[in-house]
Amino acid sequence: MLNDDDLERYARQAIMPAIGEDGQEQLLAARVLVVGAGGLGAPVIMYLAAAGIGTITIIDDDHVSRTDLNRQVIYKDSDVGLLKSRQAAIAASAINPAIHISQLGQRLSAGNVEQLLKAHDVVVDCTDNAEARYLLGDAAHAASKPLVFGGAVRMEGQVSVFQSSVKGHLGSPCYRCVFPAMPDAKQAPGCSEAGILGPVAGLVGTLQALETIKIILGQPRTLTGRLLLIEAAGSDFMEIQTVARLDCSCCGTASGTAD
Ligand SMILES: [Zn+2]
Repeated sequence: MLNDDDLERYARQAIMPAIGEDGQEQLLAARVLVVGAGGLGAPVIMYLAAAGIGTITIIDDDHVSRTDLNRQVIYKDSDVGLLKSRQAAIAASAINPAIHISQLGQRLSAGNVEQLLKAHDVVVDCTDNAEARYLLGDAAHAASKPLVFGGAVRMEGQVSVFQSSVKGHLGSPCYRCVFPAMPDAKQAPGCSEAGILGPVAGLVGTLQALETIKIILGQPRTLTGRLLLIEAAGSDFMEIQTVARLDCSCCGTASGTAD
């Protein structure tokens, strides 16, 4: 049951037939893990907190640097040098004190990923390194959790949803089906080498927050089986249909690891 504060706070979204009070209750009951509190994590965390996702866990072991401030709009200049996960949690609580936000100033690792996924309903990949992405992709498949993927560099962005072992989406691709080989650093430079424009990260993170909310609400058309490519320089949005690979080392039937 929504209380008076909830009814007021979430009025503009709960009034929509696609959400309603029932949908708002689903959002408040949901537990979302946000991996990475950088350029993508900043809008993801703020929008999910504002929308009333009842439990949000933020994991990031990094500290805020001044070079983050062109895009990581959850932080203030006075946060420079402080732990991102903690400052992001403080900012999210300031937006919405009615939800539960916890934070871990750690790196996602093989040692903590399974436990973290178990405790959440949806995981949002806002990381900036390939190792963490593959770890998360494989773990989300193994744990049958929806994974909301996003990437941004320079003026380019990518968004997709992976639900390869989630009921109702079996047979859809996993992260490794779409990105079978870990790119080397030269092929896929990070933001520190290649640069990134703030609104591009904001766009991708905002789309990730949107997909997360739609998954929680059980809305039928998400980016599952589709990779959205954004070329911000020309304001172009393109879409690639993605398919599961039989020989995928994570979910493929040819490897004998699929269920
Ligand atoms: Zn796969």
